[in-house]
Amino acid sequence: MDDGKILNGSLIASTIREEVAAQVQLLAERGVVPRLDTVLVGEDPASQVYVRSKGKTCGELGMVSRAHIMSATTNQEELEALIDRLNAESDVDGVLVQLPLPSGLNANRVLERIDPAKDVDGFNSQNVGLLQQGRPRLVPCTPAGVMELLRREGIELKGSNAVVVGRSDIVGKPMAMMLLHAHATVTVCHSRTRDLAAVTRQADILVAAAGVLALIGAGHVREGAIVVDVGMHRVTDAAVVEQLYGGNEKKMAAFAKRGAVLSGDVDFAAVAPIAGRITPVPGGVGPLTIAMLMANTMRSARLRRGL
Ligand code: NAP
Repeated sequence: MDDGKILNGSLIASTIREEVAAQVQLLAERGVVPRLDTVLVGEDPASQVYVRSKGKTCGELGMVSRAHIMSATTNQEELEALIDRLNAESDVDGVLVQLPLPSGLNANRVLERIDPAKDVDGFNSQNVGLLQQGRPRLVPCTPAGVMELLRREGIELKGSNAVVVGRSDIVGKPMAMMLLHAHATVTVCHSRTRDLAAVTRQADILVAAAGVLALIGAGHVREGAIVVDVGMHRVTDAAVVEQLYGGNEKKMAAFAKRGAVLSGDVDFAAVAPIAGRITPVPGGVGPLTIAMLMANTMRSARLRRGL
């Protein structure tokens, strides 16, 4: 396959991280060090990995990060008390509560409790409202990362047909809103969409964020379309890996070594020959998400100080 087809999210993410690190240095000259506080409730292994990697990236860019680890038995009041404390601490620029929360905790109430000026995930209703009105302040990191990728790759959005598969508050809805503000004609698909393939085949730009492994196949994509795969799945079933990556020696070797491979909502082998450009998994949207979290923390540090 033509490597020029690949939309290399890792590369763009590393450029964004360098830009943020340069801004951190400029702020340091004014005695300001951006600080991100993450909150993890319970012991979900994937969430532990995400929180650790967010903290590590902060350190690499010269920012401060603190992780607040709470037991799975934490109740709503205890969690909200921590949020109140972080809201009140002037050194804290970003507050991020790692989702999903254990059952019994109300995530919406927690997200609403975060000071909107420190809401680096952009999930608080005030930030959601500002995005919707076209006055973005702190916006969700994953769709923001996709927009950076499209912008930096010079992909024309104005007047294009964009189809977003998925309507979650975290990815699908803000993604659709950002594409709309960039003057794309946007269609949003979901689990009740009739004849998904007929809709996605209209897309010049197709963003898959359904959380369904290999949902998007060759029949879903128009020749030359730009395909962005937000999905993230750890595949451990040998038969499924064989089906998705049978001809791909590198992936099969990785599976033999680790017993798992990362895969997306797009059947890459089937779609890549048809697509104009396409993001891989891993190395596509994932690294951009964390880079945009760093950019949001920097933004919050500046906005809070009127810089
Ligand atoms: P989610 O909350 O589960 O939402 C999934 C959306 O997809 C829902 O709107 C659902 O429709 C729709 N959907 C489900 N099955 C469908 C189908 N067969 N056809 C069409 N639409 C369908 O998931 P999410 O949080 O948005 O995440 C989506 C994926 O992105 C997951 O794989 C997640 O791991 C990944 N993710 C990756 C990153 C990253 O940094 N790379 C960040 C966030 C999420 P309904 O609304 O009708 O149920």
